Amino acid sequence: MSSHYDVIVVGLGAMGSATCYHLAGRGAKVLGLERFDLPHAQGSSHGYSRHTKTAVYVDTPYEPFIGRSFELWRLLEGETGQQILVTTGYLRMADTGTWDHLRGKVRHEVLTADELAYRYPQFTLTSDYHGLYDPNGGLLRPELAIASHLIQASRSGAEIHGREAVTGWKETAQSVEVETGRGRYSADQVVFCSGSWTAPLIADLGISMTVTRQPLAWVWPARNAASFDVGALPIWQIPAPEYDGEYYGFPMMPDHPGFKLALHRYGEASDPDNLDRSARPEDEEEVRVCLRRYIPDADGPLTALRICMYTRTADDHPVLDRHPNYARVTVGCGFSGTGFKFSSVFGEWLAETALGQQTTIENDTFRFERLLESDHTDD
Ligand SMILES: Cc1cc2nc3c(=O)[nH]c(=O)nc-3n(C[C@H](O)[C@H](O)[C@H](O)COP(=O)(O)OP(=O)(O)OC[C@H]3O[C@@H](n4cnc5c(N)ncnc54)[C@H](O)[C@@H]3O)c2cc1C
Repeated sequence: MSSHYDVIVVGLGAMGSATCYHLAGRGAKVLGLERFDLPHAQGSSHGYSRHTKTAVYVDTPYEPFIGRSFELWRLLEGETGQQILVTTGYLRMADTGTWDHLRGKVRHEVLTADELAYRYPQFTLTSDYHGLYDPNGGLLRPELAIASHLIQASRSGAEIHGREAVTGWKETAQSVEVETGRGRYSADQVVFCSGSWTAPLIADLGISMTVTRQPLAWVWPARNAASFDVGALPIWQIPAPEYDGEYYGFPMMPDHPGFKLALHRYGEASDPDNLDRSARPEDEEEVRVCLRRYIPDADGPLTALRICMYTRTADDHPVLDRHPNYARVTVGCGFSGTGFKFSSVFGEWLAETALGQQTTIENDTFRFERLLESDHTDD
């Protein structure tokens, strides 16, 4: 079999599904290739929920992207009739720091320890804690988002293949040739959105990325379960001094039993083909520490524990760029544990770039160049 496309997208997780959607929506002839099922639980995009929020991105290079991401999620919801983004508010609790720099820039509230205790009695905090409440925060439903992007892409004419791994590719003067276990295809452009499997693609640039093992846990609250339901609790985040990281979590949703929480810190370095997806006692203990310390009412039986992967660059920021050595190759990778919320807009950027169009959002930051200059990944 040999077919020619405008663009082939390799990997149909968060970024690839969104890229296909934006390409097909612009009238391109698109082929999307995914090695596993659509969607699946072996990459970085499973687990029923992801945080999104706005206030923390004020005055960062992500600021224009986050605003556009919300517009695009709402557009996708309008097209599909699905609720992909559930606005819950975002609550950041901390015992140090201030949020003075947000004043006048974004809607938010700063909460004292007393206000936190009154509004969110689910948390047991000492009097030195204060809170930032971002009313725009909410949870994205990743499996539904990926499915929605792919369904809409297919309806706009994209060809979407599951269980078809790309085994090789090469760029020629006329096209890019892509080989899979099932066939051979050519295209004017290829976009690699291969998540934790992207490292070999950029190895020739001397850029390394670290893949880490990241557990996610769900528990059924021991008491007052209704106070952990969506509507009663925002998405939240709080320091994890024991682990030099942050705990974060979600209100309970009707599509998965349990109160979901996890530890955000870079876990054990791994390899995507040999990731240990078994549940270890220390995975559960990580979240038990949080429950005992901050949320004792939720410290009930485990309902699920899953393993996911972060793909980390040397400076913990992603790469959205054309490959410096291949004119027909665009890459979106290295989202370092925070990419899902941006997938709607990063997909738009990748699609526009592959088609040689002016991008809706300018991207001066998330380029290969900065990593070529100083790659210091060592953990
Ligand atoms: C535990 C955890 C919690 C997170 N929490 C948040 C959060 O709250 N908010 C947030 O914004 N982000 C969060 N993230 C990060 C976010 O989920 C990721 O940045 C994002 O999902 C990455 O998407 P991706 O498309 O790059 O990777 P993936 O979704 O893994 O997609 C890559 C795809 O490429 C496919 N592929 C690879 N090689 C090939 C090949 N040769 N042929 C065909 N297909 C191939 C893979 O099978 C995979 O489907 C979290 C991540 C984890 C692991």
